[in-house]
Parts: sequence; structure tokens; C-alpha cells
Amino acid sequence: MHHHPENDPKYKGLTVNEGVSSPPVVNPYLQERKKRRNFTPAEYAEQIIKGNITLLSQAVTLVESQKSEHQAIAQEVIEKCLPYSGHSMRIGITGVPGAGKSTSIDAFGMYLIKERNKKLAVLAIDPSSERSKGSILGDKTRMEEISREPNVFIRPSPSAGSLGGVARKTRETIILCEAAGFDTVFVETVGVGQSETAVHSMVDFFLLIQLAGTGDELQGIKRGIMEMADGIIVNKADGNNIEKANLAATQYRNALHLFPLPPSGWSPKVMTYSGYYKNGIPEIWNMVYEYMDFVKGNGYFDFRRNSQAKYWMYESINEQLRNHFYQSPKIEKALKTKEQQVLNSEVSSFVAAKQMLDLYFRYNFN
Ligand code: GDP
Repeated sequence: MHHHPENDPKYKGLTVNEGVSSPPVVNPYLQERKKRRNFTPAEYAEQIIKGNITLLSQAVTLVESQKSEHQAIAQEVIEKCLPYSGHSMRIGITGVPGAGKSTSIDAFGMYLIKERNKKLAVLAIDPSSERSKGSILGDKTRMEEISREPNVFIRPSPSAGSLGGVARKTRETIILCEAAGFDTVFVETVGVGQSETAVHSMVDFFLLIQLAGTGDELQGIKRGIMEMADGIIVNKADGNNIEKANLAATQYRNALHLFPLPPSGWSPKVMTYSGYYKNGIPEIWNMVYEYMDFVKGNGYFDFRRNSQAKYWMYESINEQLRNHFYQSPKIEKALKTKEQQVLNSEVSSFVAAKQMLDLYFRYNFN
């Protein structure tokens, strides 16, 4: 530099300085974004296990993706996380729209993280969410308090696909969340369809939120849902609704007496509370923890987890077979024609199905 003529001490003009090297990128986040798709499954798993929420979130996006290359990465990440999973308390929460699910989850969540030092993941299963555009479940704006908490991870329902597909994705997300250190997982669903069966098949405790004061308390509640419940909690027991709530609770208790004792050996409890005023919440969680001790003691906890693992293996096989069939280009095309032939009564539904399967097997396995 000092050989530069302009740096001669006698030189009167401007001097040339050595300058600093420019930083490699202006916006460090830009580089993060570009890198995102290039993480290896091992890197995803390593970061998730360290509790990196950004990568947890991105891995869940891969789990939810329809693209087969994303699915392939997701499956590897899940496999690597599996040894670190399983250590949470998984709670299914259901109730009709308006029962107070989001209000209650907000209140339960605050109680669990503040009073019991828990890390909470809130997931949802809502197969209708694609139709209704924008999930109504697991929506952060519905759970204002917990959505501001660092120890809470909220993820709305995966939106695409069949109930089985949506449920499988949620179950896989549970594994990732557990690996990331979440020790309590809520799976929210609407108690009006088939989705609560799917939720029941992935949780340790199934909580049914009910309302009082809607006339005949037991009307409109599907027996099946009540039979699945490990606990029934009557919400909105506040103001001049307290008596009605107590009455409803008594009616639920009486109704439950008519059911046989569930395989867990646990008689489901009925309680009243107010999610909005946060009354009766510690009592509910004492009950849930009592249940956990009970089923861990009698072996039912492991039995239920094992049956669920088996169930999901078959579910996955079914789903993948179905997808493979319907996504075969040859089948996709032939189905259109075959469908028309069925509609024109040129061929029966059963014969058409057999022809399509024959075509599928010939095409794929010869
Ligand atoms: P969701 O559809 O099941 O998620 O129900 P929300 O949590 O959105 O609650 C439905 C309505 O009931 C809202 O207007 C809540 O403010 C109200 N609500 C929820 N919990 C309570 C409660 O404990 N007491 C009273 N009085 N109202 C409540």
C-alpha cells in the first residue's frame, strides 16, 4: 500500500486507505432461509433434540408436505428422533364448537407451565380445515396467553388429505415435539365427527369438555365419545350457571355408571370448572395426574401405547398403499375411463374395481 504514489507523505491529495473486507451477507436471515431446504435429516434431528424450535417447525412442515422428497426427509428425521420421544403426557381434548376448548387450553396451558413447570405443545386434528379454509383448531389467536409463552409450541391442524392422513401427520408431529423436549402434548379436536377416534388412538388421556344448561344434558352427545372419555369436564361453571353445571355433572356421572368399566380399570371422573375465570383447574390436573399414576401402576399405560403403535403401523401401510395406487399415472388415467363405464352401466362397480387392481398389479409388479 505505501508504494502507492498517492500515499507519498508529500502527496497533498486524498489518501487511499486499505479498506475493510465486506461482510459475506448483508442479511444473515437470508442465508438461513436459503439453507433451510438443505439441512440433512441428521442435522434436523440434532437441532430438534437440542430444542431448536425453528427447525422443529420446519421439520413439521416437511411432515405435512405432500411432496415425496419432503416425506422422505421427514421420515428419516422422525426415525432419528424416535429414541428421544415417548416421554410426554399426551392429552386429547375434545368438545363441540363453543364448548370452550381454546379458552380452556389457554387456561390449562398457563397452569401447567407456571405451576407445574411443563413445556407444552398444542396440536390439532381437524380434517375439515381445508374446506373451511384456515384451521379453526390450534389457532394461535384463539389461545392468546399461551401463544406468548416461550415454553409453548402451537401448531394448527395439518390441512390436506383424509382424516387418516391428517391424523398420521399429527402423530408424527407428537414424536418430533417430544424429541424437542415438550413433556406435555395437547391434541385438540372437534367432538362432532370421526376425528376424536383418531385422537383417542394417539393420546394417554382423553378429556371431553361439555356444557351445561342446554336443556336435556345428555341429548346430542354421542355415546361413543362419552365411552372414550377418561374425564368429562363441564365448563362455564361460573356466575348463575354454577348450579346448572353441577346438575349436568351429576347427570353425566349417572350416565357413566351405565357403561361398563373401561379396559384401563379407571372410572372416568366428572368435574365442573370455569376456563374463563380459571376456577377448578388444579383439580382437573390433579385428576389427570392421578390417572397417569393409576395406569402406569397397572400396566395399562404401556398397553395402550403399544396398541396405538400397532394401530398406526397398519394405518400407515393402508395409507401408503392407497396413495401408491391412486398416484400411479397409469391408474389415474384409466380410472377416469373406468368411472364413466360404471356410470354408463357398461361394467359393474366390482368388476371395474377388479380390473383397476389387475392393471395396477400388472403395471407395478411384472
Ligand atoms: P371452542 O369453540 O370450543 O374453542 O370455544 P371457545 O373457547 O372459543 O369459547 C366459546 C365461547 O364461550 C367464547 O365466547 C368464550 O369466551 C366462552 N367461554 C369459554 N369458557 C368459558 C367459561 O368458562 N365461562 C364462560 N362464562 N364463558 C366461557
